[in-house]
Amino acid sequence: MHELGIAYHVAETIEDLGRKNNLEQVASVTLEIGEVSGVIFSYLSDVWPWVCRKSDILRDSSLLCVEIHAVTICLDCGKTYDTVPQGRQCPHCGSWHTELVTGNEVMIKSVEGY
Ligand SMILES: [Zn+2]
Repeated sequence: MHELGIAYHVAETIEDLGRKNNLEQVASVTLEIGEVSGVIFSYLSDVWPWVCRKSDILRDSSLLCVEIHAVTICLDCGKTYDTVPQGRQCPHCGSWHTELVTGNEVMIKSVEGY
């Protein structure tokens, strides 16, 4: 399961960060998840308590999510458009010569703790 790997990766990163910043307890972790990243946040939040069960610093933390809207740019006409309803073809000029700008990311946005 893809999400389990991500949850472990996030937990490890935050444990590291927590140690460096002398955090005793992480209260919440906020992730940024791209609309077309393929990562399902509800799966992540389901496995989060399990992933954190052995970590003193993360045990009672909650996992939050901000969704990043997917935007594609057309390399022919230079305009941007919403990726999800439109797909890879530019709605302005019909070109298939397009590139995703945002929407594929899975990142740690912020960590709150004490
Ligand atoms: Zn175009």
